[in-house]
Amino acid sequence: MRILVQKFGGTSVANLECMKQVREKTLAARAKGYKVLVVLSARSGETNRLLTLADEWSRDPEAAEVDALISTGEQVSVALFAMLMKDAGVKARSLLGFQIPMRTDNAFGKARILGIDNEKLTAMLEEYDVLSVAGFQGITDDNRITTLGRGGSDTSAVALAAALGCECEIYTDVDGVYTTDPNMCSTARKMDRVSYDEMLEMASMGAKVLQIRSVEFAKKYKVPVHVRSTFTDTPGTLVTQEDSTMEAVLVSGIAYDKDQARVTLRDVPDVPGVASRLFGPLADSGVVVDMIVQNPSRNGRTDMTFTVPRGDLKKTLTLMEDIQKEVNAAEVLHDLHVCKVSAIGVGMRNHSGVAAKAFEALRSMNINILMISTSEIKITCLIEEKFTELAVRTLHDAFGLDKDSMLG
Ligand code: ADP
Ligand code: ASP
Ligand code: MG
Repeated sequence: MRILVQKFGGTSVANLECMKQVREKTLAARAKGYKVLVVLSARSGETNRLLTLADEWSRDPEAAEVDALISTGEQVSVALFAMLMKDAGVKARSLLGFQIPMRTDNAFGKARILGIDNEKLTAMLEEYDVLSVAGFQGITDDNRITTLGRGGSDTSAVALAAALGCECEIYTDVDGVYTTDPNMCSTARKMDRVSYDEMLEMASMGAKVLQIRSVEFAKKYKVPVHVRSTFTDTPGTLVTQEDSTMEAVLVSGIAYDKDQARVTLRDVPDVPGVASRLFGPLADSGVVVDMIVQNPSRNGRTDMTFTVPRGDLKKTLTLMEDIQKEVNAAEVLHDLHVCKVSAIGVGMRNHSGVAAKAFEALRSMNINILMISTSEIKITCLIEEKFTELAVRTLHDAFGLDKDSMLG
């Protein structure tokens, strides 16, 4: 039995017309002899609508109920798609997370997949030609519905492909992975191939074309992922293992992430234990702290600045209230109008001067850098949000990403 996983995002299932295009893609795979497991997202805008509803109806929505609520968007998509397939004479049925079952831990809102019953799935694929599977959702061992974090249907799809040992096609509203967001920079260029490591950095730095965990799964289980468009037939981008031609690339992409908030604990004593008192409780409550800067000490006191996802700002500030009193800090400041821009490339490993070039490019546009962090294959700057587009385009140009050859 030849199996293929195809995943379609929110804009691809937005309305009947779009869903019919999805059906064409699935029928084309059927015509090639595949049994197709189609993973669907909620229709575009639906997950946001449901999240707003939770906030309107409750002062403090319980995380487990939020997941029970926001997972319904995918249920609508898969039922409608199964109906469309049946209309086309295909033996199809819908499957929700709990019916697979897609087992997860109980970290509501950002659950991790623990296992997939692939024997049951394979048996169902023997019986049906197309399975229409809800992305984004899973089930805990004590039967509670979970969701996998925003963009989580990508991860559902790649995990299912890993479990079934097959390839995975991710269909979306752009025709592949570009050197930067093509909706932000008109000179962005589509890449034919990108390595798992580069894609991991691009995703973790904000390129939402693939959810980061989907790339982690793909890398771990060596699942070839083909990112392509629902609305055209052009070949997309293959996310795959690094090869020798990829190694030559100095900077392969620019990513940005507006989902950032900056928090500063001002005027804290510069003594052992303060950082641990500060970041311990944040970690315990599941807040992922990203960039951290500690200023040089003045008279034994310092400032601590860090970034968190915007959705975790409320929780962070509540925790900071206690900590501020305890460590005798002067005040807690925060800023929502910031954005992280990153240059990513495996070729940076063996080159110096990449960071200097990025800083000079931003300076030339008078863009102030608020924070900096680097890794082996990326340079990240926190800047004011209003400069996002300018910064992305400037870095994209500075590293010659609009050109075909990007040899360092
Ligand atoms: P879907 O709903 O299909 O999951 P998403 O909106 O999650 O689609 O992801 C696709 C979007 O990702 C594109 O419309 C594009 O704006 C954005 N994007 C950001 N960075 C990139 C990149 N490097 N290459 C392609 N798309 C990108
Ligand atoms: N519907 C979910 C979201 O909007 C999951 C997904 O689309 O991948 O984040
Ligand atoms: Mg997505």
